[in-house]
Amino acid sequence: MSLFLKVVPASDAIAIVRHLARTVDAEYIPLTEAVGRVLSKNIKADIDIPGYDRSVVDGFAVRAADTIGANDAIPAMLRSKGRVEMGGNIQRTSIDPGQCFYVPTGGVLPKGANAVVMLENAENVGDEILIKKPVAHRENVLLYNEDFSKGELVICRGKRLTSQDIGVLAAVGCIQVPVFLKPIIGVLSTGNELVSATEVPGSGQIRDSNSNMVGSFVQERGCHPKYFGIVKDNQESLYAILKKAVAECDAVLISGGSSKDDRDMVASLIGDLGEVLIHGIAIAPGKPTIIGCSDQKPIIGLPGHPASAFIVLFVIVRHLIDGMTGDASPQQEKVRARINQNVPSQKGREDYVRVFVEGEKATPLFGKSGLLNTLVRSNGVIQIPAESEGLEVGDLVEVWLW
Ligand code: AMP
Ligand code: MG
Repeated sequence: MSLFLKVVPASDAIAIVRHLARTVDAEYIPLTEAVGRVLSKNIKADIDIPGYDRSVVDGFAVRAADTIGANDAIPAMLRSKGRVEMGGNIQRTSIDPGQCFYVPTGGVLPKGANAVVMLENAENVGDEILIKKPVAHRENVLLYNEDFSKGELVICRGKRLTSQDIGVLAAVGCIQVPVFLKPIIGVLSTGNELVSATEVPGSGQIRDSNSNMVGSFVQERGCHPKYFGIVKDNQESLYAILKKAVAECDAVLISGGSSKDDRDMVASLIGDLGEVLIHGIAIAPGKPTIIGCSDQKPIIGLPGHPASAFIVLFVIVRHLIDGMTGDASPQQEKVRARINQNVPSQKGREDYVRVFVEGEKATPLFGKSGLLNTLVRSNGVIQIPAESEGLEVGDLVEVWLW
């Protein structure tokens, strides 16, 4: 067997993980716990909103025709019939021509009125109200069911709920919210040199960064990480833990041992458990990545170097996670900036260059693979397409912020 990886373009890898991504079951949860969760059903309005014509300003409810031609010098004079009370009975108020009602913001428009004059364009003179500016028909009025009509689609399935969404769900009476369950993602690291973050590494040892980073990445995107710890580079123990993780989780992310040297056994173990679909992606960093599955559950073999593993999470695995959580329109903040150094790039692979963006300026962070510092000193990444030979100082780039 060749010692080299058979690399595929990143777009192929993304297409495969999207294909592997299946949402798990759904559940109903209380509205107050639903922020950040992904809707599993379309939500429709249970009532007409608003349920009555209402004012959008503090002012005087009038017949628009009574205000035609009104101005400061010759105001229209209307007779005040009183005040509309917030939350009051809507049946009792009505106006005839030449009359008006004080109505606060959100108050019910009295019968007969069809517009509201803002308070600042009116003046009280005893029981008379001087209107100094005309209003058009329906001006400053929110009409009956103008916002949502009963049965109208309010929020689509697949939306990750924000606090604004929660406010609207409350308005349409959705107090038990249908959401997808959080997928359980198995996380494990392999390497004889790894010790837990709780230990001080001895000679030849390093702390396991990846378990914590990978688990946090999936948690941040709405999954439950399930940690299986550090496993030695040993066929039997690795096989046993990987099998257990597949059985107990919806997908498994394993880092280390993903390349093709004779210590790297992850690909062959995934093959023993199921199927290897991709071994090698034409991206840098992140080439030694494995995509496979067992029992229809995705298993991803991530490179050991934390910075490489993170790029694979950010560029490829995120699509798997979004698909599994049901998130139909995941947000990714992007900014445009100008690169302030030349960045060479090899043709035939996508390069992902960590950068620090400040205002208009993006500074690339170079360094040997294996450095941790670029992870914390960068605030985003730029992609250099496979066909490009690099960037020149001053080139406009799109930075994906992290
Ligand atoms: P490997 O892919 O197993 O050959 O590992 C590549 C490099 O990443 C080696 O220098 C490993 O020591 C390092 N590495 C592997 N796994 C981890 C981990 N979980 N945390 C930090 N570094 C790791
Ligand atoms: Mg290793």
